[in-house]
Amino acid sequence: MVGTGILKGMAVTARNFVGSYFDKERLITVQYPEERNPLPENYRNFPFLIFDGDDPHAGLRCVACKICEKECPPQCIYIVKSEDKKPDYMGRPQFYPKVFDIDISVCMSCQICVEVCPFEAIKMDKEFELSQRERFDHLLFRKEQLSKSNDYYHKIHPVEAEAVDKGLADAAAAAEAKKKAAAEAAARAAAAKAAAAAQPSPSPAGNAPTGS
Ligand code: SF4
Ligand code: SF4
Repeated sequence: MVGTGILKGMAVTARNFVGSYFDKERLITVQYPEERNPLPENYRNFPFLIFDGDDPHAGLRCVACKICEKECPPQCIYIVKSEDKKPDYMGRPQFYPKVFDIDISVCMSCQICVEVCPFEAIKMDKEFELSQRERFDHLLFRKEQLSKSNDYYHKIHPVEAEAVDKGLADAAAAAEAKKKAAAEAAARAAAAKAAAAAQPSPSPAGNAPTGS
C-alpha cells in the first residue's frame, strides 16, 4: 500500500521520542557542546606526535626518518631533520625533527603515516573542533602543537595504546637481552684468548737435548 513506509518510519520516530523519556539509550541527540557523546575507540581525525614522559622534546619518539613524509598521499607532512642527536626510548642516539608540520587543511585522515611509522611515533587524534578563521597559517600544525603525551594517547585510544606500549616494552627487552648475550659472548671469547696466551708454548723439536 502506498505510504506504508512513511507510517512505519513515523512509528519508529514516535517510539524513540516517547521512549527517550524513559530509556537514555533511545535519546539519540545531546545538548552539544555542553553534552558530548563519547567517541568510539577507533574514531580518528588528524595525526599527532607522541612523546614519552613529561618533556615533549626529550621524549619525542619521532626520529625524523621521513618515511611518513614520503608515503603521505597528499604530501601534507613537512619534516626537517636535526643535525644533532638525542637518545630515543631505548637510549640509542637518534636524530629528531627540527621541524615537523602537518597541513591539516590538506590531510585526508587516511592514517597511512601511522601505518608506515616504524617507531610508533605518530598516531591519529580524536580532536575535531579545529575550525579557524584563518585558512592558511592556522591550519598548518607545527611540531609543538602536534606533540602530545603518551598519557593523552592512552586516554583517547586505551586499547590500542596498551598494545603499542607492550610492543615497545617487548622490543626494548629483546634488544637488552641481545646486548647482554653479545657482551657475555665477548667476555667468553676474551677469557678463552687469555687462557690460550697463558699456556706454555711447546719446545721446538730442533732444540731437544741430546745424550752424550
Ligand atoms: S593521515 Fe594521511 S593525509 Fe594525513 S598526514 Fe597522515 S598520511 Fe598524510
Ligand atoms: S613520525 Fe615516524 S615515520 Fe614519520 S618521520 Fe617520525 S619516526 Fe619517521
